[in-house]
Amino acid sequence: MRVWALPLALLALVACVTYSVAYRRSAEEPPVIVPLRQVSVDPAQLAKRLASMQAGWPRSRKFDCARLKCVALTFDDGPGEHTGRLLDLLSARDVRATFFVIGQMVAADRGGLLTRRIVDEGHEIGNHSWSHPPLAALSHEAVHRELKYTDDIVEHLTGVRMRVMRPPYGATDDGVAAETRREGLAQILWNVDTLDWRDRAAPTVAKRACEAKPGSIVLLHDIHRSTVDAMPAVLDTLSRKGFTFVTVSELYGKTPLPGRTYTSR
Ligand SMILES: [Zn+2]
Repeated sequence: MRVWALPLALLALVACVTYSVAYRRSAEEPPVIVPLRQVSVDPAQLAKRLASMQAGWPRSRKFDCARLKCVALTFDDGPGEHTGRLLDLLSARDVRATFFVIGQMVAADRGGLLTRRIVDEGHEIGNHSWSHPPLAALSHEAVHRELKYTDDIVEHLTGVRMRVMRPPYGATDDGVAAETRREGLAQILWNVDTLDWRDRAAPTVAKRACEAKPGSIVLLHDIHRSTVDAMPAVLDTLSRKGFTFVTVSELYGKTPLPGRTYTSR
């Protein structure tokens, strides 16, 4: 063995150990991605996921939202402990929504199960940064990292390259727009704010969400129990009013343009 081979072998060993530990949480460091083979896979789920990797995903259902009363429900800051229950509620009613996920929450989602469910069950998934800072306050490089780390971990887990993002706090500027354009992401804001992060009462959240107009994008957060509690009433009331629930891309009938900002149809 050559003199330099031993230190090199030790270095490789350390690198392997580092690779297999949990995800790093710092916004400064890229996520350490657990290889998929370490995750137990249900063949039916795998088949669905493989289908979702095909060109043309998401297989947008066609809605003419110029004629129909369409509404896009959007859920930020997850996936979290209430996301599974929300997915159950949406699936039972065959409702599709859009989830703007935080990279660190995806990293904490054991085996990416909720993240994969979001994609497998036909919802749109969007980038809500890696660590939820106000992006407009960051350097271009930092904004790039916030977007790219989340793009990469979601693509690794689901096979899907995201096309939409939501800037944390809705805080954006020309610099953020330029980075989102480079990363191939449209900026999606909202025109109905349920303030569900502040008012943790399901009836209040439901009342505000039901103020949606045709073409509205409704801001909600699936990390709050009260928000998920509000959803049966929201879905029932908006259905009764004749609304069709669509994803953000379905609302526009095409993939929104990278870098552009959208608040409603
Ligand atoms: Zn947020």
